[in-house]
Amino acid sequence: MDLRRNLEAVNERIARAAARAGRNREGIVLLAVSKVFPASAIREAYALGLREFGENYVQEFEAKNLELSGLPEARYHYIGHLQSNKAKLAAELFHVIQTVDSEKVARRLDSFAARPLDVMLEVKLSAESSKSGAVPEDLPKLVEAVRQCPRLRLAGLMTIPPWSEDAELSRPYFRRLHGLSEALGVPGLSMGMSHDLEVAVEEGATCVRVGTALFGRRKPAAAATP
Ligand SMILES: *Cc1c(COP(=O)(O)O)cnc(C)c1O
Repeated sequence: MDLRRNLEAVNERIARAAARAGRNREGIVLLAVSKVFPASAIREAYALGLREFGENYVQEFEAKNLELSGLPEARYHYIGHLQSNKAKLAAELFHVIQTVDSEKVARRLDSFAARPLDVMLEVKLSAESSKSGAVPEDLPKLVEAVRQCPRLRLAGLMTIPPWSEDAELSRPYFRRLHGLSEALGVPGLSMGMSHDLEVAVEEGATCVRVGTALFGRRKPAAAATP
């Protein structure tokens, strides 16, 4: 794995998509999804200038975090499904929780957060039963509930479309999320992964979550429990 070269390629893809869409590259955060990879991968990425990291498993990151001192500007985003019994640990470990999908989880995060905590609402836009997230109909109430939580800062919406080889099939989901963010007045948009980040940038993503294109393929053992 040549992280430096991969990072150049990903940055190039983001920059080209932003230019095509007439957008400013600075408005798009590259979230390096480091799940399954060791703390040393985060250190290497940090040395190359990356600052935002995405993790899916609370306990995995708890262990890695012990090896991550001395990276003062690193910000860790939780992007896995959050069970409410992990909310306390997640609120301690992460700077951003991108996957809030219920009032219960929001209130637990708020009660455990020792400092202001950025949160995004995960939105479920497809009927796939495996996907978590709040359905669009429930968003207004959830947005209101999060705004009532004194320590939570509502930073945006996040979604994961059904996986497809064809990145164009993600476009309607990204467009829908953008529409919801405008309707709700919640500006951040976390959408797009290694295979469909261009489409996401064209549709307004402010954060693309990229794992494979940076760190290489994850071992199948990656399918651990959250
Ligand atoms: C693993 C993961 C990613 C990164 O996926 P890649 O295809 O490896 O870029 C992005 N978002 C979420 C929610 C993930 O679980």
